[in-house]
Amino acid sequence: MIPCEPPRFHLANLPTPLQYLQRLSDELDVEILCKRDDLTGSAIGGNKVRKLEYLVADASGADTLVTCGGAQSNHCRATALAAAQRGLRSILLLRTEDPSRPPPTEGNILLDRLAGAELRFISRPDYARRAELMRAVCDELARGGRTGYVIPEGGSNAVGAWGYVRAIYELKEQLAAWSWRTRDVDDLTIVYAAGSGGTGAGILVGCRMAGLAARVVGVNVCDDRAYFVREIGRIVTDFQARYGLELGLGDKDVEILDGFVGRGYAQSRPEELALLRDLVRSEGLVLDPVYTGKAMFGLVSEARARPGSLGRRIVFMHTGGIFGLMTAEKAAELGPLL
Ligand SMILES: *Cc1c(COP(=O)(O)O)cnc(C)c1O
Repeated sequence: MIPCEPPRFHLANLPTPLQYLQRLSDELDVEILCKRDDLTGSAIGGNKVRKLEYLVADASGADTLVTCGGAQSNHCRATALAAAQRGLRSILLLRTEDPSRPPPTEGNILLDRLAGAELRFISRPDYARRAELMRAVCDELARGGRTGYVIPEGGSNAVGAWGYVRAIYELKEQLAAWSWRTRDVDDLTIVYAAGSGGTGAGILVGCRMAGLAARVVGVNVCDDRAYFVREIGRIVTDFQARYGLELGLGDKDVEILDGFVGRGYAQSRPEELALLRDLVRSEGLVLDPVYTGKAMFGLVSEARARPGSLGRRIVFMHTGGIFGLMTAEKAAELGPLL
């Protein structure tokens, strides 16, 4: 159905629903639909599962998936569960401040351990050379007669990007059947959280391939605009070269709404957590503190500061991350707000 689509291993429950956020839409005088990609699965849910469908298929021949991320990485957790579902092993390189004092077994780490993943905690300086370290893990496996398959941080490369190409075909079909309340406009803006760039790259490629006319805006949750323009630009360029698709996409097509990293990656501000709480109460929608909570904070702040600047029809990608909320640290921060 989708031209040039590589093999895919079924992992995700698709299509994910679209949820109209009525009270938030009324308040901001825009129409906001939430694409519930947190519902791609329960323990394995979120955006990484869509990427892993293609990455796991590409890993045929390997017996071990090797990947990396922050200690509470959603991607590493999804990889550990996908490996188990495929009968493979997994080795996760997890970044932490002091590897001699590993973080507690909670949230995603609890699921990593339940899935039988091998966890290796590494320092920030070591994480900077993660590609080299993951290759070394594969060499080590090879010496034992095993075969590793390296998945980059976040599953963000040309293969993984297919997950969001497919998601856009899915979204386009859903939107065709959707009756918008705002009839006088036809603009559409897709807002997503950018962490390693693969989701943004897939959305851009998907919109171009599927012919969905949308403005695509990433809210970065770490680094800055220049970093994501470069990273997402690199992935879309690789994608076009690898699959022989001339889509004319590059750095120039990457739009990033910078300014909402706040206290830093995975660090929360009270106002971000207060919005997260309010949306659970007003819409029954649970966002995560690391990605979607910040992206939504960016969307709401922008819509309030500059009404109309994101258009009148918005699709917000809920990319998952629920287990990032289930840690003692986040519970302690949320406590006073409850
Ligand atoms: C990884 C992740 C993102 C960011 O996606 P990238 O493709 O890495 O940019 C957004 N939301 C959640 C919940 C994630 O786990």
